[in-house]
Amino acid sequence: MDSFKALWVTEGAHGAFQQDVIQRSIADLPSGDILIKVSYSSLNYKDALSAIGNRGVTRRYPHTPGIDAAGVVVESRVADFKPGDEVVVTGYDLGMDTPGGFGQYIRVPAGWVIKRPGGLSLRETMILGTAGLTAGLCVEKLEKSGLTASAGSVLVTGASGGVGTLAIKLLTRLGYSVAAASAKIDHAEFLNRLGARQILDRATMMDGIEKPLLKEQWAGAIDTVGGDILFNVVKSLHYGASVVCCGLTAGSSFKATVFPFILRGVNLLGVDSVELPLHIKAAMWERLATQWKLDDLDDITREVHLDDLPNAINQMLAGKMIGRILVRLD
Ligand code: NDP
Repeated sequence: MDSFKALWVTEGAHGAFQQDVIQRSIADLPSGDILIKVSYSSLNYKDALSAIGNRGVTRRYPHTPGIDAAGVVVESRVADFKPGDEVVVTGYDLGMDTPGGFGQYIRVPAGWVIKRPGGLSLRETMILGTAGLTAGLCVEKLEKSGLTASAGSVLVTGASGGVGTLAIKLLTRLGYSVAAASAKIDHAEFLNRLGARQILDRATMMDGIEKPLLKEQWAGAIDTVGGDILFNVVKSLHYGASVVCCGLTAGSSFKATVFPFILRGVNLLGVDSVELPLHIKAAMWERLATQWKLDDLDDITREVHLDDLPNAINQMLAGKMIGRILVRLD
């Protein structure tokens, strides 16, 4: 086991980035408490950005992306983990400047690692991955802000993506009536099968952008796209309702006024699943493995190998992805 396969992103001449699958040496991994043989990873939007040289995600190249990894402990310097333990790592620096889950081995600090939650297989943990963790945190935040299933429809934007599909499934599982905003109107049947009762064309989400307030439509919302769409969602919330912002596929900035806040008392909330303290991540994983466990995860999943990743990354960056990409490492 001295060497292993990994996706390797290199910077070529004139700032062009290239992705290849190469053999790497375990001795070249950074020092750390725990060496893990990775069974599964998953493709998240941030991985796609890392794979094309986005310095906001990854500063140093060459590099192996992959912010998610699930596998088996091979070596451990700490008493809490021993060889053979099945474990899950998401976020922190994994896949950013630390070689990530798109390699068959990772070495990481013990403070990033949780034991596989009992109710989920390693494969299921990575179908969920950072996307599932984020969807769970968004739903939890809305409920903490007072949302209940009887309050009305909950909007999910970027509905066909990883966070979007899992948010729709989870909200539906908890009895919410879900509206899905997506550019993939031709995949409305897929969104309906997840549980969405109303489908909105993403193009209409910019309607009324010039107005200070829009018709009150949503009892709550999970926004995975950001940009001006996010502020149109803020303007469409019921009096006192909340939207959770977690993503930026439509843009990282938006034009805003104070009116929705001072006239309707609405809330714009944030979720980060990356730097979140480990005990909070572990508690959410436990929830996703028990009372919030989702069925039929294979229906939203495409399984790929390392060699297939460059194609999948291009698809994701083009906004053409549907559901989750599970990466199989063995
Ligand atoms: P995906 O690529 O799986 O999904 C993103 C979806 O956004 C697409 O499927 C598409 O949905 C929509 N979309 C794509 N391009 C655009 C565009 N130009 N304008 C508007 N919508 C667009 O990504 P993930 O689900 O993995 O991540 C979604 C977002 O959440 C990303 O920005 C990611 O960085 C962020 N994120 C944040 C986390 C946090 O901790 N805060 C954790 C995980 C993700 P459709 O075609 O249905 O409209």
